[in-house]
Amino acid sequence: MQWYQLDKEKLEQKLHVTTERGLSSKQVEKRQKQHGANELDPGKQTAKWLIFIKQFQDFMVLVLLAATLIAGLLGEYIDAIAIMVIVFVNGFIGFFQEQKAEKSLAKLKELSAPFAYVLRDKNWERKPSRDIVVGDVIKVSSGDRIPADMRIVDSNSMETEESTLTGESLPVAKHTNSLNKQDLGPQDQSNMAFMGTLVTRGSGTGIVVGTGMNTVMGQIASLMVKTKKTITPLEHKLAELGKILIIVALILTALVVVVGVYQGHPVYNMFLAGVSLAVAAIPEGLPAIVTVALSLGVQRMIRKNAIVRKLSAVETLGSASVICSDKTGTMTENQMTVKEVYLNDTRLDVTGDGYDLLGDFYSNNNRVDNQFPNLKSMLLYGMICNHASILVKKGKNFINGDPTDGALLVAARKLGLNQSDSEPYRIIKEIPFDSTRKRMSMIVEDENKRQFLITKGAPDVLLPRSAFIMSTNEKRLMKTADKEKINNEINKMGDKALRTIAIAIKPITGKQNDGLLEDDLTFVGLYGMIDPPRKEVRAAIEDCKEAGIKTVMITGDHEKTARAIATDLNILPEDGLVMDGYQLNQMSSNELKEIIDRVYVFARVTPEHKLKIVDAFQQNGHIVAMTGDGVNDAPAIKASNIGISMGRSGTDVAKEASSLILMDDNFATIKAAINEGRNIYENIRKFIRYLLASNVGEILVMLFAVLLGLPLPLVPVQILWVNLVTDGLPAMALGLDQPEADVMNRKPRPPKEGIFARGLGFKIVSRGLLIGLVTLIGFMMTYQGNPENLVYAQTIAFTTLVMAQLIHVFDCRSERSVFSRNPFGNKYLVLAVLSSIAMLLCVIYFAPLQPIFHTVFLGIRDWIFILALSAIPTVFFGFTKR
Ligand code: ADP
Ligand code: MG
Repeated sequence: MQWYQLDKEKLEQKLHVTTERGLSSKQVEKRQKQHGANELDPGKQTAKWLIFIKQFQDFMVLVLLAATLIAGLLGEYIDAIAIMVIVFVNGFIGFFQEQKAEKSLAKLKELSAPFAYVLRDKNWERKPSRDIVVGDVIKVSSGDRIPADMRIVDSNSMETEESTLTGESLPVAKHTNSLNKQDLGPQDQSNMAFMGTLVTRGSGTGIVVGTGMNTVMGQIASLMVKTKKTITPLEHKLAELGKILIIVALILTALVVVVGVYQGHPVYNMFLAGVSLAVAAIPEGLPAIVTVALSLGVQRMIRKNAIVRKLSAVETLGSASVICSDKTGTMTENQMTVKEVYLNDTRLDVTGDGYDLLGDFYSNNNRVDNQFPNLKSMLLYGMICNHASILVKKGKNFINGDPTDGALLVAARKLGLNQSDSEPYRIIKEIPFDSTRKRMSMIVEDENKRQFLITKGAPDVLLPRSAFIMSTNEKRLMKTADKEKINNEINKMGDKALRTIAIAIKPITGKQNDGLLEDDLTFVGLYGMIDPPRKEVRAAIEDCKEAGIKTVMITGDHEKTARAIATDLNILPEDGLVMDGYQLNQMSSNELKEIIDRVYVFARVTPEHKLKIVDAFQQNGHIVAMTGDGVNDAPAIKASNIGISMGRSGTDVAKEASSLILMDDNFATIKAAINEGRNIYENIRKFIRYLLASNVGEILVMLFAVLLGLPLPLVPVQILWVNLVTDGLPAMALGLDQPEADVMNRKPRPPKEGIFARGLGFKIVSRGLLIGLVTLIGFMMTYQGNPENLVYAQTIAFTTLVMAQLIHVFDCRSERSVFSRNPFGNKYLVLAVLSSIAMLLCVIYFAPLQPIFHTVFLGIRDWIFILALSAIPTVFFGFTKR
């Protein structure tokens, strides 16, 4: 017997579960142990020791190790061992950095992992999909990805899209009846839903019959090859840059070696020095540090409620020039409260705030009760044609389900209606709400077996479909005058920023033509509900404006409502345009492109319009961030440069299409993420600048010395030590730097801009040159042509180089002069520099280390000399401001 052949009772028996209470926690525990997690095989992880070994794979490091080995064999034990130790320490650092990056990426994955709505011990709970076991009872609805293979036991117009399995992209309707056939393929098992497929419409309940690799998807996955790790454009750019830098470094080192040998240095000495220099100068660690900086930035974003799904988004964020954001729920609280109702030509005001159930209905300041004509039935219809429920947690009311629906429940409660009033009505059929239809309908049957339809939705959608109207005591034909009055009222509500919903009914008699089901309605009334803007949003929009980013509001709501809220939030400038879905439909993409830069609000749009909007902005050269939460939003989210989905209200489909998830659904979080994105990019520039300027300094001092026929100012261990100490912690600390005060006052970064743009290349070369020069001067003035001074002069050169770099690191914090911000504002950097100085002092003053690092004691006067020299590069450019 196959699962699809069983009926619900057999199924329940077989899996020891009922759809009323679900599995017990004991059963779940046992089954989890037995079958493992509901995951497709995660594949093998790279062993830790392999990652460690990988740190030494680098060609130049291997050459260095070989050269050291030779040195050791030649009797230079101390040098050989010192170099080995440094190389290993370096390897360890690389290893830990990689581990850290990996860990934070894993955490990220966990945060954006899918959840399922499952019944256990009679309670509906949201559980990570990986915890699902066979026998679990699961509810899914439009937009969900099916978490495991399941047999459908309840279907509410449920349709799924199974192209991942069958290649067929047309949705398949799902029903609950058992199929009495043999050997059906997945595409014909219409009472089953399969892991990984999508619910495109309606909702349903199923009992899990297969998890993990034991699913149809699992069988396919076992045949598939693993996808490679993706790298971000910046990492790619840097890898390319790294290749060039390697070649430049190698050429320069080769030059140092050749000139040195020509000047009479021993070949072997020059070789070891050259290899050390190459190892130090080649920024092989750059991509790793970039990854670390990205992932640290990503962690900071998590703390600000933004989950990055694709690392590349971090970079793109800094270039965003337009944010297209949903209004409802993202800019507003998504806390709807009915403030007005309109029925039989009368407007009633409704008191009470939020989801508080206390409140009354007033007509011209006179309280009315449930005797007011039609009021009770209107509110009752709103309760029946509804999916939400009111939950009370810790004395506070919450809405489970759509807040728009919730508001109608709250309004009904205010008149004294409650659940027992809607219970006698049995739901026969439902056509779910979606943002394209902008309405939902239910056919219900009352106690007298009379059936009727309740439709609720956008008033301008329902009004043309209404042929009758409920007036005080009768149902009568709708006249043009009625429509005008209602339209007038809709506009008035819109101007007050109220979201409007109409409710209409229709008796069902005899056989219905499905296509005409929602026609010839009887209009009952209007609701006007407020959804207050989120507090933080106004400031965030202002900040975006400062940052050269345009905010565009997108909503399915009425134009008036959208305009009122946009004006309130300061989105809409005086000459700004509001466009609605009907206008959008009329326009060709070229016409839209011409005008879109002046549009700030799109009202009464459907998710399908979003794609057109993204496209038009992109054609005008914009980098577009687009938010969305539903299934139909996914294409636009994908097409935008930064797709953003909602952590709370978002569907799986939208989340999967997005590169950023807002955990709190909040517009302000987008701004915070952009801020962070810009910061991360600037920090990456900061440490690239620091590392490369340091390397330029190291190479130049060696090159100048050999060109001038001097002895080598630095010995190999010193070079490697400099590389380890100054490149390690201080560079990392720059990656954690706070943004400059004005990052959000700059224009968005042009996406094509190179890493060295905005004067970075000049900064690197000029600082590097000066660092090399002052080191050389320190060496020459101490050496004075006397070989007896050599070790002393090398100690001075070494110390000057280190100090010059450690001072210069503060210069790197700003695009402008080092004096433009408090140099000690980054406490990590101060700590890193202090610890580097401590290590430097050890190497100079700890006697046993002196022979290893070829150093001698330095006195106060030496230090004054060194500090004066090493401050020059930073101070000089601090004043020239270049
Ligand atoms: P938004 O982009 O603001 O979320 P929607 O597409 O969700 O807009 O809604 C568009 C219109 O559809 C609303 O203005 C309202 O009139 C109507 N509407 C919204 N939610 C519901 C619902 N649950 N039931 C019926 N109609 C609804
Ligand atoms: Mg909505």
